[in-house]
Amino acid sequence: MAEQGLQQDLAADLLGWYAVHARVLPWRARSGARPDPYRVWLSEIMLQQTTVTTVKDYFNKFIALWPNVESLAEASQDEVMRAWAGLGYYARARNLHACAMEVAGRLGGRFPETESELRTLPGIGPYTAAAIAAIAFGQPVAAVDGNVERVMSRLWAIDTPLPASRPEIRQLAASLVPHPGAGDFAQALMDLGATICRPRNPDCPACPWQVTCRARARGIAGTLPRKAPRRKIPTRRGVAFWVEREDGAILLRRRPEKGLLGGMMEIPSTDWLEGGVSHIAPPLAADWIKGAAQVDHTFTHFHLQLEVWRAQTSTLPLTAGNHVWVHRDSLHSEALPAVMRKIIAAMIPAPA
Ligand code: SF4
Repeated sequence: MAEQGLQQDLAADLLGWYAVHARVLPWRARSGARPDPYRVWLSEIMLQQTTVTTVKDYFNKFIALWPNVESLAEASQDEVMRAWAGLGYYARARNLHACAMEVAGRLGGRFPETESELRTLPGIGPYTAAAIAAIAFGQPVAAVDGNVERVMSRLWAIDTPLPASRPEIRQLAASLVPHPGAGDFAQALMDLGATICRPRNPDCPACPWQVTCRARARGIAGTLPRKAPRRKIPTRRGVAFWVEREDGAILLRRRPEKGLLGGMMEIPSTDWLEGGVSHIAPPLAADWIKGAAQVDHTFTHFHLQLEVWRAQTSTLPLTAGNHVWVHRDSLHSEALPAVMRKIIAAMIPAPA
């Protein structure tokens, strides 16, 4: 554990750097202004597993459509999913809407201020709760994500590989959080990790912690954080069915609410199984062209290889309630997960 004087110096150095170098981001409060918890929460949910550059446009779109938590709560889940389309990790969008309804309803429009209360809301895990508590409400808590793990590992030259080093990293990060100033400290640490203490080629000469940093002193910054060897992930296989009606409509299906990509629209497919599917049952009888395309996609826990079968039909609407026909020109405005967009790209190549 770092001693108190050193902790205070490190916090002051980082805040001094942040006062000059803070990134201008659409969800950040102007200097001296009170942060809006709605904007902080919305941005933190969007930033989970997504880059700042991608999030900016989506954040601005959401704020234009739904400027506060009450208006977001009043939107339908479909509207929210549609606006979210392309951001990925769609459970976030469903939880975002559920959380907005809970805050606007049960909580009277006010986000709770503490980390523990925030964690009771849909879609708010430990990191997001800490980030919102610190940034929106100034609570003296450390928000530790992969970026902060990297910076702390280097600052203290932690040799233990992740994830075993996590408790130590959390303790060290927490010991640096100033009070007041916890919100700026959290954002400063995010900025330092994103712009200076980058995964590759950290810019140590520009770093406010360069004098204290142990990894820099030992010349090992680029090798940290150490990581335990990655576990190999399995490959699942399946068949997707691309059905085109004579008028150019494509058959889509809504996935079950629970489970992977729950509630999202998809190109109908078989189950996705390790070793592939033994029984292939297309959604309708037609002259199927097998192997029209092959699409690969990697989820967190498995690789997916989908063979796409193609058919044309003059059959009119399928009666099953979870199927819809969408014209091929309108597919881009559907809230489709990334793997389905890959199928569309394979089946409707972009014009040259
Ligand atoms: Fe990261 Fe270099 Fe700063 Fe150390 S001195 S915290 S390695 S950027």
